[in-house]
Amino acid sequence: MENVVINWLNLSIILGWFFLGYSALILIGYHYQLKILKRRTEQYQFASEKEIVFYERAANIFGVSTALTTFGLIGKALGSSIEMYQYIFVLFIGAIIGLGVGYAIKIYLDYYYPFILEKRLHHIRFRPMKSDSGNDMKLLNETEEDIHLTAEMIDEENEFSSDYDVWLDEKTGEKVIEKYDTHFHTLICEECNFRTLIEKNEETVKEPGIVEEGLLKKHYECSYCGHKQTINAKLPSLEKTIEIRQNLEKTNSH
Ligand SMILES: [Zn+2]
Repeated sequence: MENVVINWLNLSIILGWFFLGYSALILIGYHYQLKILKRRTEQYQFASEKEIVFYERAANIFGVSTALTTFGLIGKALGSSIEMYQYIFVLFIGAIIGLGVGYAIKIYLDYYYPFILEKRLHHIRFRPMKSDSGNDMKLLNETEEDIHLTAEMIDEENEFSSDYDVWLDEKTGEKVIEKYDTHFHTLICEECNFRTLIEKNEETVKEPGIVEEGLLKKHYECSYCGHKQTINAKLPSLEKTIEIRQNLEKTNSH
């Protein structure tokens, strides 16, 4: 009987190591996939869509690993003098600790990690680029880049559906245009002139009245130079809101 228990505890520890390795493989696999992508736009998209997904998967497996190892180690530390039901209690403790560890990492990834990811994405997009001749390329700002873009590209930028980065080798004239899908609304930063101004939060300064307009302050921060900017937006009065809604219904019903 005792040997059977010891065997199960050892197996639990071995499985714990196995899942730890599996968790590490998920992380290594993700970073390998990211590294072999050739273009920075592909890396940018892959990282922004998949990084947290893969990290959370690895965190879940790590939680399982922690649960199994904890069960095995506590069980062995208590020795073979305890009763069967006490092992079940130890198993329960292991599961709670494993769940706790997995959950803590998930909270970190959901709430804190996005800020780190934003910095990593910034590095992928704006890290120095070398031209084929080995010269440093210059990233053009919104005013400088327009002559290199087609009218369609500029339209896309203004509709916030895509953002183009133009890199220029000033010595040879070599040009690289990178396209980024921007799902969030970015505006042009007044400080550095790149389209990297992202809305951080907004506050209602004044609620709209029946006839008078309200006021909304939108806080923006530039992800390129860190410049902070506030833009005031007017909120339509309640009367106006009803009017807009009625007009919308009219156009929809025709
Ligand atoms: Zn800026």
